Amino acid sequence: IEYDTADIVILTAIFAATIAYFTKGTFWGKPKDLFADLAHTNGTAKAGKTRDFVKKMAETDRNAIFFYGSQTGTAEDYASRLAKEGHARFGLRTIVADIEDYDFENLDTFPSDHLAFLLLATYGEGEPTDNAVEFYEFLSGDEPQFSEGASADEKPLQNLKYVTFGLGNNTYEHYNAMVRRVDGFLTKLGATRYGPAGEGDDGAGTMEEDFLAWKEEMWQVVSKEMGLEEREAVYEPVFKITEDELLSPESDTVYLGEPNKSHLEGKTKGPYNSHNPFIAPIAKSTELFTVKDRNCLHMEIDISGSGLSYTTGDHIAIWPTNSGKETDRILNVLGLGEKRHTVIRVDALDSTSKVPFPSPTTYDAVIRYHVEINGLVSRQFVASLAPFAPSEKAKSELVRLGGDKDAFAEEISSRYLNIAQVLEMLAPGQTWSAIPFSLIIEGLTHIQPRYYSISSSSQVQKDQIAITAVVESIRLPGSKHILKGVTTNYLLALKQKQHGDPNPDPHGLTYNITGPRNKYDGIHVPVHVRHSNFKLPSNPEKPIIMIGPGTGVAPFRGFIQERAALAAKGEKVGKSLLFFGCRNSNEDFLYKDEWPEYAAKLGDSFKLVTAFSREGPKKVYVQHRLQEHADEVNELLKAGAYIYVCGDAAHMARDVNATFGRIIAEKRGQTEAQGEEVVKRMRSSNQYQEDVW
Ligand code: FAD
Repeated sequence: IEYDTADIVILTAIFAATIAYFTKGTFWGKPKDLFADLAHTNGTAKAGKTRDFVKKMAETDRNAIFFYGSQTGTAEDYASRLAKEGHARFGLRTIVADIEDYDFENLDTFPSDHLAFLLLATYGEGEPTDNAVEFYEFLSGDEPQFSEGASADEKPLQNLKYVTFGLGNNTYEHYNAMVRRVDGFLTKLGATRYGPAGEGDDGAGTMEEDFLAWKEEMWQVVSKEMGLEEREAVYEPVFKITEDELLSPESDTVYLGEPNKSHLEGKTKGPYNSHNPFIAPIAKSTELFTVKDRNCLHMEIDISGSGLSYTTGDHIAIWPTNSGKETDRILNVLGLGEKRHTVIRVDALDSTSKVPFPSPTTYDAVIRYHVEINGLVSRQFVASLAPFAPSEKAKSELVRLGGDKDAFAEEISSRYLNIAQVLEMLAPGQTWSAIPFSLIIEGLTHIQPRYYSISSSSQVQKDQIAITAVVESIRLPGSKHILKGVTTNYLLALKQKQHGDPNPDPHGLTYNITGPRNKYDGIHVPVHVRHSNFKLPSNPEKPIIMIGPGTGVAPFRGFIQERAALAAKGEKVGKSLLFFGCRNSNEDFLYKDEWPEYAAKLGDSFKLVTAFSREGPKKVYVQHRLQEHADEVNELLKAGAYIYVCGDAAHMARDVNATFGRIIAEKRGQTEAQGEEVVKRMRSSNQYQEDVW
């Protein structure tokens, strides 16, 4: 077996953590600030909610702040993992911060012996994540105004020392654009970066390994520059879990999965947003595929009376619930099955940490509604469980897997196991009751709502949002295990319930369909709306070219619905050319029966071009059809057509982009580079828009 540096460091850390655990930390004195942390318990020394992070760090005696710009929770997870490690291994006094919670005018007053970590994901077309928009706008502005008034030329951030890691996806054109730009702004303003500018690549599936490899190099530089001495790490819980015998799940102050206080009190009110979902009735749900083993759902979600609104092309976020099967699995493997309904209070042991869900609550509710128990397992997290293994054998397995990235990839990641399955596999029939529940909350990410491109037009059905979602159910060749997507299988169960379908899930997933305290009864789902920039041209006479294979067709159903309605009202609409692709015309041809209805209203102005990949002798995809229609496409572009691409970011969107470049080059007698340049310009002027995932 070959070990790289990251492996060796992880092994060392595991070894240290193991010794630490079994010697109860007597190998070294407890760091002084640990007691300071404990003193903050229960918010007794809670600093007021300030947007001034320099002040907050001074008040709480911290010297390292870990900002995260996160969309799906990974950057947030990395920030908290890094902060814990910085404290445990190097004695940094750390604070984790949602970048949205602070103002940055006083970045120029950041003490020179402090350190700022920036863990920033790039979203969509090289954009900041929702929570990092303000921060990004401030830094990227013409002349950011700092509190001490120095101009950009005077290098106002000379005191600032920082560290960066970006979370990106190389299949997108603007790979890690957010972190690269931020790094550029900070350097230009005089700040100094410690360690390499880290970048993780979700596209290559190496995010976690990129992060693990980067952080070792970074810690070496940071410890040298800051004169930190590495110490042996010991696990310190971030949360205090107290079982409360006086309360029961029936007590009306106990959260059973309600996302916030107004939901608990049954007095939900808007505005509904990413912190406060609307419990929406599902008005209609249908199956779009005609085959048994694959499902694609069409659902109409009723937002009337909620104050929510959308415009064609927006996204809706669905808040999932974990399945009963996986909730049971993890509670049982942790030895919490029997006391799943015990009421617990979860408090941050340090005033700067946030409990990611409301409490008091129950073990069951935390697992079922708040923790991502099914996701890809982190090697670092697995390693951190070694001290808590139920047997020497299980412990040595954790140490082996934690320290060997190839074995980990082969035995865990590539088999799509979730954390509970890993624990079951490593200690068959045993429970892992020594794992502190705090570690589960810290180590697994907070469950995130999933986005869906709205497949209806707001002009046609302003109070009913349609979605088109393919149900994730992936069986690896030769494996018994089937990976079940969290949200889409929950939606499938809702659909089955709505239809009184006696067929439960073939893989035994059950859901608490009626939600906490039956508040979702009558087929409801928690949602909020996210506005997007994926928009029809304001002038309906403009031609549009849409490429949407598979569920990528979702927003285009909305676009066509809208144009058909305009045409029915007698308005003039421009040509709408839609490229759709799927396996074959009888199985997964989405909205097969609807397109002729739209065509009847739109006449010649609508054309649907299909690519059925499995019908001919050779596989045909949308990009091939696009190429075949090069003349027509070129004519439409000359007439000012807008291009829209939706669906698979990994391959399709790239190929389509290249095909457009080639068509332009061929038809206009230009070089490929010139063709690509035209596409680039169209992108920057919003005439070429993507909604890809
Ligand atoms: P998840 O549980 O989130 O799993 C998703 C994937 O993660 C799996 O397929 C697998 O690759 C990986 N994974 C999960 N667990 C593991 C594990 N233990 N080990 C290894 N890998 C694992 N989808 C649509 O169907 N229609 C749309 O219109 C649509 N629009 C979207 C628009 C936007 C802007 C975005 C960002 C996404 C959109 N999606 C759409 C995708 C959608 O948000 C969800 O990602 C998708 O439905 C899967 O969600 P899930 O909860 O069912 O699956």
